[in-house]
Amino acid sequence: MTALALLTFGEDGVATGHRLVDPDSPALAITELAATRGDGIFETVGLVGGRTLKLDRHLARFSSSARMLDLPAQDLAVWRAALRDVAASLDPGRASYVKLVLSRGVEGSGIPTGWAFGTAHESYDDVHRDGVRVTLLDRGYPHDVAQTSPWLLQGAKTLSYAVNRAAYREAARRDADDVIFTTSDGYLLEGPTSTIILRSGRTLRTSRTDLGILAGTTQAELFDWAATQGYTCTYDLLTPGDLADAQAAWLVSSVRLCAPVRSVDGAAKTVDADLTAAFNAHLRSLAG
Ligand code: PLP
Repeated sequence: MTALALLTFGEDGVATGHRLVDPDSPALAITELAATRGDGIFETVGLVGGRTLKLDRHLARFSSSARMLDLPAQDLAVWRAALRDVAASLDPGRASYVKLVLSRGVEGSGIPTGWAFGTAHESYDDVHRDGVRVTLLDRGYPHDVAQTSPWLLQGAKTLSYAVNRAAYREAARRDADDVIFTTSDGYLLEGPTSTIILRSGRTLRTSRTDLGILAGTTQAELFDWAATQGYTCTYDLLTPGDLADAQAAWLVSSVRLCAPVRSVDGAAKTVDADLTAAFNAHLRSLAG
């Protein structure tokens, strides 16, 4: 089951409303810059029982990605309304997500294109139980790339995910399920669609968000929750050695939620089943 809302825009490029349309009918022009250049941004919001998870965090990041790409600042109430109508059209009995997309629009028009697309997704129960096999891949940029070269848009959630998809194919060639990118000078970054969390005792660590990675909404939510449970939560320059030494590690994201890491380049890691379950229970409890 899927649903689609197309946003309408004023001359200033700000969304003014939306209409639900048949998700199976053609909706984009062939000169749409989302399709031809990947020139736009998106957010993927998880739904449990038909209700959104951590929507405010997603909308805040949507605005910050728009700013980084010099796209017009949006009226978030309009996007919320589109998302609400799409979510209401889905089966509340299935775990689902809604993807919000804002692109630079049809080439030459100067007006953005925007849509909200919702669909059910597969179950990740097996992944939550068994974990993922990870390989480390060099992203090829040093740790300060976001400061030296902001035009690379590291840290914005852009539509240009061809590199991230290629990383998954490389992982498959290496007999792994997922990836943790590293900097060219040896620090851990993030997964192609996830944020890393490491645990040592009662301390949780993640990579600093100024390393040109996406500021994860799932990781931020889990850190806020874990702090109330007595964990110390820190943002650090992390190395592959820190990952090897950690008692447990996760890749966390909005749809798959918390996937424990069960090996890194073939070296086994212990899956922390209890904290994985507590993390995922907390995230699902946010449905509101
Ligand atoms: N990093 C990247 C590159 C991502 O694409 C994603 C999500 O798709 C994340 C991190 C995790 O972000 P979130 O927890 O907000 O889904």
